[in-house]
Amino acid sequence: MEPVLIDTFGRRAVDLRVSLTDRCNLRCSYCMPEEGLSWLAKQDLLDDQEVIRLVRIAVTRLGVTEVRFTGGEPLLRPGLVGIVAACAELDPRPELSLTTNGIGLARTAGALRAAGLDRVNVSLDTLDRETFRTLTRRDRLHDVLEGLAAAEAAGLRPVKVNAVLIRGVNQHEAADLLEWSLDHGYELRFIEQMPLDAQHGWDRGQMITAEEILHLLGERFELHPEPVAGRGAAPAEHWLVAGRTGPDGSPARVGVIASVTRPFCRACDRTRLTADGQIRDCLFAVTETDLRTALRSGADDEALADLWRTAMWGKRAGGGIDAPDFTQPERLDITVAIGG
Ligand code: SAM
Ligand code: SF4
Ligand code: SF4
Repeated sequence: MEPVLIDTFGRRAVDLRVSLTDRCNLRCSYCMPEEGLSWLAKQDLLDDQEVIRLVRIAVTRLGVTEVRFTGGEPLLRPGLVGIVAACAELDPRPELSLTTNGIGLARTAGALRAAGLDRVNVSLDTLDRETFRTLTRRDRLHDVLEGLAAAEAAGLRPVKVNAVLIRGVNQHEAADLLEWSLDHGYELRFIEQMPLDAQHGWDRGQMITAEEILHLLGERFELHPEPVAGRGAAPAEHWLVAGRTGPDGSPARVGVIASVTRPFCRACDRTRLTADGQIRDCLFAVTETDLRTALRSGADDEALADLWRTAMWGKRAGGGIDAPDFTQPERLDITVAIGG
């Protein structure tokens, strides 16, 4: 078989999202219920060596060029620095990044950088302490801001900030978040709220759309679509902010990712490994392929690579959330193990 992850629509998956834990120290309302989830048992989680082996297979046998660690909260994984270091030694060397809520990054950013981490995305939806407490059900805004500053100081640049806007909670902060990010040299991306919460509380009618986000930003900023070769007729996802420059002197940009209203599944290049060793071909997949059992039963690298290829071959055309009758698959109860 070809040494790539390809599907029947001709898409190649080169971007691997690895969830390192389903646990989290926040309880963002759009992601987890207040009481948390029924966490995976330790023996069901891949251990560090198992994670490293599967990433090695993805990079050396399946053409993966980018590895992003996520969760749950990946900074809660004790072996994170060692996993990053081992992945940084792979040949070819993949791009290594981390999506985190930033809590604990102040302590670990330097070590992660030294281990070979290239970039971080820190999730931050509000700059107001009370709103942060309402949204995440924890009083940790200060830790996140410290984490962001440490990431910047450690050279994990460009530091990206991911924000989700929730109607009636933080949508009035859209322009403030952009102003603040520009002032700090962080690159901000707004992401439409997706039906990913374990509580199944997502409501399409309540969701703040990309169009609305652009309107909110337009009240203070002049935005121009960033010209990008190759996106064809696809709507712009990144916008240049007139009159503002980024830390390297290039025009400042803001991302508005319309995952719901303008999904870009036709160009999807992602494959996912859950914390318990399952391959998911899409964020909204209703089935998974169990690599952990095969791995623990003694399958060799090529057999695991074959299972992975077969899993991706069957990927559907899209996640289906743009369909008005979309219903959230039950299995999404463990979304945080999938890694957003
Ligand atoms: N805990 C880390 C964090 O928050 O960055 C990593 C895991 S989290 C599941 C990954 C990303 O998914 C975060 O940026 C988060 O804002 C986003 N996310 C979670 N639930 C979401 C939802 N319902 N819609 C859109 N994005 C969501
Ligand atoms: Fe935790 Fe990230 Fe989910 Fe928030 S979005 S509850 S930080 S996993
Ligand atoms: Fe890819 Fe699925 Fe997301 Fe579409 S919904 S971009 S197919 S992961």
